[in-house]
Amino acid sequence: MRIDVVTIFPEYLAPLDLSLVGKARARGQLDVRLHELREFTHDIHRTVDDTPYGGGPGMVMKPEPWSEALDTVVASGPGEGAVPTLVVPTPSGRPFTQELAQQLAAEPWLAFAPARYEGIDRRVIEDAADRMPVVEVSIGDYVLAGGEVAVLVIVEAVARLLPGVLGNAESHQDDSFAPGRMADLLEGPVYTKPADWRGREVPEVLLSGHHGKIARWRREQAFARTLAHRPDLVARWRREEMDKHDLKA
Ligand code: SAM
Repeated sequence: MRIDVVTIFPEYLAPLDLSLVGKARARGQLDVRLHELREFTHDIHRTVDDTPYGGGPGMVMKPEPWSEALDTVVASGPGEGAVPTLVVPTPSGRPFTQELAQQLAAEPWLAFAPARYEGIDRRVIEDAADRMPVVEVSIGDYVLAGGEVAVLVIVEAVARLLPGVLGNAESHQDDSFAPGRMADLLEGPVYTKPADWRGREVPEVLLSGHHGKIARWRREQAFARTLAHRPDLVARWRREEMDKHDLKA
């Protein structure tokens, strides 16, 4: 997968060199290209923002540098009409979910447009949408100072779904929010050795080797955790479906 990020703070994306994403890049599974937005300005101050029409506090990112940057990204593609899916982080976007991560992981090419200030002039998004798929994405109901952190969140969630990126291909299938096995349930607690640590013992059932009992215990734990932390998800939970999945497993 190819990923382009246009930003005024390329250095904010240094974590993309680390850990799972960094290894995926080193293995050639991810081709990440960072573009400094100010490179696409033409004034001495390398201006990327201006005052908002209609008044109000804060500044708005100017359309010209963004459109030039996005044109350059598209032009550097493989040609033959290939365009990236443009991901625009914004608190007013569609909520980022595991399902959306999976949809994005199926794309060959993503470009990210993380903003600063009060966001990007709306016409940039409309202009891009005439030429490429655009998805505006919120990573949560809070406001960050800029979209770079949202890019890190989205790229990491997407990258771990790419074939061959996780050591164990099955490890994301039991994750919280993963469709299928544990649909709509958060993942329950996990344990490793030693079995007895500071007088706290690992639940006996996990040492039993009884797969059916372990699956039931995990489901009950997942349910309890979901009930405690995300009662909204519990409303969507259907026991029959979960039993069906366990029988199949
Ligand atoms: N005035 C904007 C609003 O209320 O929707 C907030 C702008 S915020 C200070 C600057 C940038 O940070 C946004 O344009 C976006 O790129 C990013 N950002 C902030 N919160 C975000 C969130 N929850 N999800 C995704 N991106 C976010």
